[in-house]
Amino acid sequence: MIDLRSDTVTRPTPAMRKAMAEAEVGDDVYREDPTVRRLEEKAAEILGKEAGLFVPTGSMGNAVAVAVHARPGEEVILDADCHIMNYEMGTLAVFAGAMPHPVHGDRGFPTPEQVEAAIRPPIYYCCRTTLLCLENTHNMQGGGIYPRDRFQSVVNLARRRGLKVHVDGARIFNASIASGVPAASLAEGTDSVMFCLSKGLGAPVGSMLVGGSAFIEEAVAMRKRMGGGMRQVGILAAAGLVALETMVTRLAEDHSNARLLSERLAEIPGIEIDPSTVETNIVIFRTTKIAAASLVDRLKAVGVLCLAISADQVRMVTHHDVSRDQVLKAASEARRIAA
Ligand SMILES: *Cc1c(COP(=O)(O)O)cnc(C)c1O
Repeated sequence: MIDLRSDTVTRPTPAMRKAMAEAEVGDDVYREDPTVRRLEEKAAEILGKEAGLFVPTGSMGNAVAVAVHARPGEEVILDADCHIMNYEMGTLAVFAGAMPHPVHGDRGFPTPEQVEAAIRPPIYYCCRTTLLCLENTHNMQGGGIYPRDRFQSVVNLARRRGLKVHVDGARIFNASIASGVPAASLAEGTDSVMFCLSKGLGAPVGSMLVGGSAFIEEAVAMRKRMGGGMRQVGILAAAGLVALETMVTRLAEDHSNARLLSERLAEIPGIEIDPSTVETNIVIFRTTKIAAASLVDRLKAVGVLCLAISADQVRMVTHHDVSRDQVLKAASEARRIAA
């Protein structure tokens, strides 16, 4: 099978399995697991923050961040197509009691003007706007990278207006590698960042939340409240360390495979995609002759897995466990079916 459904399907590497088998562990609820602490310190250092926290999933990382940053009844500005808004079952409302204030960013990336307009006036009967969440790269907008100037302007504006900023950086290393900008620079000026170890970086489980020491102290308690206090979890953190040490720079390969895939798909008459919009490892294209779901079904029958994300849109994601040849094979199967 050529599995292009997501980069979450990556299997742990032999080096990860070895590190897991040999991991030094302790009880992390007492904050005594040395491997977890090493991972948390390393993640914080790479992102240029004071402290880090290992969480079971990206969704929990986002939920913890929002619940620490926002109080019940407060508003959170975010892009309408972002993951927190659409694929986290309302955790923002469930755990923080917060109100989402979605804006329609350009390719998923809100402009300073849009954010400014979404901030509520300081009138007592209006919700208080306290948090801005930004996604980088943007999953459902085809893995786009937040334009750097716009990101900085939006973060500066938020700070000026007293808003906290959380980055859903599930794939922040894809953004960093593709743009040649260090991850710490992509996190600059923000209050917290979540990133996933279990996607393109290939770890079996886990995400990181990083931010200031006071924020992380509260996040530790919030994670426990959500049932995320884990014990000898150094066994998983060990794989996370290998992911950070060995799997970041190779993301460039996934990006060139995605670009190649998009170029081949663009040549197919029944498919619409602009390869110049493919900046990282996610390829989203439109089908014009057959329904997206039927293309996905027929590809599955010939060993290519991908996802229909709307009636006429398909998503393919490149990762460590698909080769250049497999990507070419997927494109030629798509040509046979969709053209
Ligand atoms: C995958 C993803 C998450 C959530 O991660 P899980 O570990 O699957 O809970 C959050 N945000 C974005 C943008 C993602 O792609």
